[in-house]
Amino acid sequence: MSADERSTGSTGESAVMRTLPGVEFDHDDSVRVNESLMTGCPGIFAGGDMVPGERTVTAGVGHGKKAAHHIDAWLRRTSAARPAKHPIATFERLHLWYFDDADRRVQPELPAEQRTAGFDEVVGGLSSQAATFEAGRCLSCGNCFECDGCLGACPEDAIVKLGAGHGYRYDYDKCTGCAECFEQCPVHAIEMFPEPT
Ligand SMILES: Cc1cc2nc3c(=O)[nH]c(=O)nc-3n(C[C@H](O)[C@H](O)[C@H](O)COP(=O)(O)OP(=O)(O)OC[C@H]3O[C@@H](n4cnc5c(N)ncnc54)[C@H](O)[C@@H]3O)c2cc1C
Ligand code: SF4
Ligand code: SF4
Repeated sequence: MSADERSTGSTGESAVMRTLPGVEFDHDDSVRVNESLMTGCPGIFAGGDMVPGERTVTAGVGHGKKAAHHIDAWLRRTSAARPAKHPIATFERLHLWYFDDADRRVQPELPAEQRTAGFDEVVGGLSSQAATFEAGRCLSCGNCFECDGCLGACPEDAIVKLGAGHGYRYDYDKCTGCAECFEQCPVHAIEMFPEPT
């Protein structure tokens, strides 16, 4: 399936953008942006359905995060350096025992005998509790989600927790390279490298 076939969104409301100097548009009324999501008008950023590309919630949310980094960098007069991509954490490298089963039905369904009695939705939307549960099932492949597993597994106290959202620091003076942290990490967020000679 192509990105165009998957797209369900529509172009944004462009009237305001048309009043801004330097903003350019594509034939379908979407706004042209550079790799930083900045339009031709310095300091004006755009993303989501407003720009060319896949018009889905996932793309829109991703653009929001990316634009926030670039807006912050633009305001600070620096550049938003992207961290190097880590190797792909393949399925067989994940420890799925760590995660909840996903066999619960979380969307309410209308009983079969009531379905012909009206036009009520047959499959209802997610409650906030169910939506939180679904989001919590993300496997975070290759990305640390701060489960503290490595922190507890390290026999040398070589891992230092830096506080919620700040990850961990490895004290290589204490680390013996035993690989306990690497082997138990549920999402393969730790790589082992040979020590430089
Ligand atoms: C019927 C339909 C079904 C869809 N189904 C799916 C789906 O199942 N899965 C999926 O991934 N995507 C789906 N999409 C696409 C998805 O909804 C969009 O890609 C996504 O909402 C885009 O997010 P956005 O923030 O770019 O734009 P929007 O969600 O449109 O948000 C833009 C906001 O800006 C506001 N705004 C506009 N102009 C101005 C202005 N001048 N001043 C102030 N505010 C303004 C608008 O009111 C709106 O709140 C669907 C879209 C439609 C139309
Ligand atoms: S590196 Fe792995 S084991 Fe350590 S906290 Fe992150 S996800 Fe958990
Ligand atoms: S390799 Fe062993 S000693 Fe080093 S941080 Fe991991 S668990 Fe601790």
